[in-house]
Amino acid sequence: MSSTQLIRSVCVYCGSSEESDRVYFDSAYRLGAILAANSITTVYGGGAIGSMGRLANGALDNGGKVVGVIPKFMQELEWGHGGLTELHIVEDMRERKHRMLLGSDAVIALPGGSGTLEELLEAITLKRLGIYLNPIVLVDVQGFFEPLISLFRHCIEHRFMDERHAAMWRIANGPEDALEAIRMSSAWSATAREFAAVRAQSERT
Ligand code: AMP
Repeated sequence: MSSTQLIRSVCVYCGSSEESDRVYFDSAYRLGAILAANSITTVYGGGAIGSMGRLANGALDNGGKVVGVIPKFMQELEWGHGGLTELHIVEDMRERKHRMLLGSDAVIALPGGSGTLEELLEAITLKRLGIYLNPIVLVDVQGFFEPLISLFRHCIEHRFMDERHAAMWRIANGPEDALEAIRMSSAWSATAREFAAVRAQSERT
């Protein structure tokens, strides 16, 4: 089991859209506030708009520490949030993802678009391979992640993934449940790579 006592920083993936429903913005702001209230550093993509901006503001307004990691080209476009505790400018998207993920004690995904999903799926894939071992929580605001969870179930039913892989993520119904979901996450170790490849029943560990 993990424990929030050991959680010092959380990597949050979320959308950059300004057009999504305000329920998603509210959730992002509340998550930032909750992380701040629990003295947890928010690590995120460094943007000022959409759910990303609300997340950062929720944490900052409540005295939290927020670290943004943004690629040089986005900063040149002035996409970076101006009020963060730290803003790291990196070369490219790959370095950004690497920096965000590997320094974090857990991942939380809020609703978002292709960027959010790509980041989340990379974290899950690295966990499957036993490279990233920490909790991954999907904050399922208004059932947003249900299609993705169904797709994962579909992958398992069709034996592209193993049923043990479903323990890689945990669902929280809202930001208020996210830290409990981290705490309740199944322990995971590098030995997961022994069942990363799905094999015939007779060969299974
Ligand atoms: P999406 O979920 O498709 O909105 O993608 C979120 C991701 O989009 C972020 O992690 C960034 O990679 C990227 N992104 C798009 N717009 C911005 C922005 N204004 N500031 C920072 N990152 C952005």
